[in-house]
Amino acid sequence: VSAGAAEQAVADLRELAELTGGPDGARRLAWTEDWLRAREWLRGKLAELGTTVETDEAGNIWATLPGERPEVLVVGAHVDAVPNGGWLDGTLGIVGALALLRTHGGDGSRPPVTLRLVDWADEEGARFGRSLFGSSAVAGTLDPAAVSDLKDRDGERLADVLARFDVDVERAGEAGTRLDDVAAYLELHIEQGPVLERMGIAAGAVIGTFGVERHAVTFTGRANHAGSTPMDLRHDAFLAAARFGLACREGVADGAVATIGRVNVEPGIPTIINGTCTVTLDQRAFSADDLARMLAGAQDASRVIASEEQVEVGWERIWQIEPIAFHPELVDLAEAAAREATGDAHRLPSGPLHDAAEMARRVPTVMMFSSSTGGVSHAANEDTPEEDILAALRAYLLLGERAMGWVAERGSS
Ligand SMILES: [Zn+2]
Repeated sequence: VSAGAAEQAVADLRELAELTGGPDGARRLAWTEDWLRAREWLRGKLAELGTTVETDEAGNIWATLPGERPEVLVVGAHVDAVPNGGWLDGTLGIVGALALLRTHGGDGSRPPVTLRLVDWADEEGARFGRSLFGSSAVAGTLDPAAVSDLKDRDGERLADVLARFDVDVERAGEAGTRLDDVAAYLELHIEQGPVLERMGIAAGAVIGTFGVERHAVTFTGRANHAGSTPMDLRHDAFLAAARFGLACREGVADGAVATIGRVNVEPGIPTIINGTCTVTLDQRAFSADDLARMLAGAQDASRVIASEEQVEVGWERIWQIEPIAFHPELVDLAEAAAREATGDAHRLPSGPLHDAAEMARRVPTVMMFSSSTGGVSHAANEDTPEEDILAALRAYLLLGERAMGWVAERGSS
């Protein structure tokens, strides 16, 4: 690993934060002008490395550095961010991938295998509630019919907004041909949780990602006057949803999580009982059995509570993904690289979702995590000590070298 590559990557991070961040956090929401500005910055960096840059049918950016062999190692992450997000989520993996290309591009020498950087489109799903848009299109798991009519908070349709960014949702799946020559995928990311920090470890090998069940649950009662309606004659949609939220918390399996994220009430007026309340439920677990039990439990609880509160309940699945394990040999390489570069290592599952989960369906995949200060993410104060960022970058660059060797060996056998 060349000296200074990790330091250069940290300088890149600060430059991007300067350009698309600020006191209120990151301004890189997918499908906005701010996002395009961040991607222009990335294109500028890629141009310096002499890569061929293309955008696919799903809006993902690909930059290829030809190697001695035709097999392709893809390295990537996402520049998009949640509103008021942090400076490291997604971007750490982007600058890490840039650093790997930089250590092999520019001086006329070729990497042992072909290196390709990817910037996934709309990893966060923050605007329409559909995460991993670009990577699921590539992996073949995106159903255009299921996402086209998703609306943002202003009522704009996903398909209409994406069309303005030259993405035809109906054709997004054609981006899948990008994987035809891909041998493996690597992604560096902040942990977004407290595990590594608590253990005093800078970089960890990720064994896979949690499965997720995400639903919109709507309780429908009857809006009525807050003064004239006796307590026993109410059909209060909000109170039913509130009880449902508590029931979901009680049903969480060991090591799993559940969150009521969005809460919409109508009419939302101080003097009126709420007639409608829609909440989103997001459940995650590394065991498929635990996840299924949690979902069934929440559905049962919603029906019992609805009947007791004399309201109706309806479920609508927004999204789901099963637990996905990464490639065991690559997990071993990641753990060894973390240990060599930082002196210590740890294996852990990922609670947050990542594009790597979609890639793992199609190609051998692994992720590396850096520590996260206080486990804080998706917030303006998201941070990691610089020494941990540098250590994780060095571990990732070492993993990149090892993974290229792994890919070359498999390609020649
Ligand atoms: Zn991310």
